[in-house]
Amino acid sequence: MSNESLRQQLALLYQLQERDSELLSIHQKLQDIPRQIAQLEAGVTKYAEEVNVKSAELAEVEKQQRAKNAELEMNAEQREKYKNEQRSVTSNEAYTALERQIEFLDDKDAEAEDIILNLMEDNDRLKAELEELEAKAKEKKENADTDTQQLQQGLRTLAAERDEKMKARKAFLPQIDKIRRDEYHRWMKAQLASQTGAARAKAGFIALGKDGTCSTCQIAIQPQTLKEAQKYEKPVYCSSCKRLLYVEPATPDIPFP
Ligand SMILES: [Zn+2]
Repeated sequence: MSNESLRQQLALLYQLQERDSELLSIHQKLQDIPRQIAQLEAGVTKYAEEVNVKSAELAEVEKQQRAKNAELEMNAEQREKYKNEQRSVTSNEAYTALERQIEFLDDKDAEAEDIILNLMEDNDRLKAELEELEAKAKEKKENADTDTQQLQQGLRTLAAERDEKMKARKAFLPQIDKIRRDEYHRWMKAQLASQTGAARAKAGFIALGKDGTCSTCQIAIQPQTLKEAQKYEKPVYCSSCKRLLYVEPATPDIPFP
């Protein structure tokens, strides 16, 4: 392998890494977007549930109102019966007993009417709260629908972009020697297998050496290592972060990176 060819291989590997870094970003976004959509859905569901709870509260109050009104009607019927009986009784005692029954019904009515008044207030309050909640839920849903549509559009665009880049990557790959490619792929695969490694994979397998510094770990490359790397005779690795070094050529006329 001539020196020039190794330098070119390093340049190509670096380009591959740049491509993969973009692909990793796209992949990350493709994973994030469905999560964002699920969050929007959860927000909408939460509001819908609050509306349901409020509706149930209102329904309960209305049920109690109907029950109390039915009680008043029954009391009225009963009162009517007592009054009819009063017209046909012969003794004073019987008349007074019926009178007491009627008074008892009047007390019951007064109690029920107090409760009905409270229930009416509750009803008004709950209706207003429900209306407000429904308006909020509607707004929330409309916003979520718009956002979801945009996210789904973004998802399609990104997926198309990824497919395009994968195709270009496949066409690019044969330019790199199989041995370098394999080394690179093995390393990437090992990194991506772990959660913390994924971040490492994004930082890259190959590190640029600029101004005598490793651009990945930001540590100065030892002069001997730098000299060695600038010969491009054999792969040289950063002594600190262990990445394959692609260093700036000693002569400025060679393109870099
Ligand atoms: Zn380094």
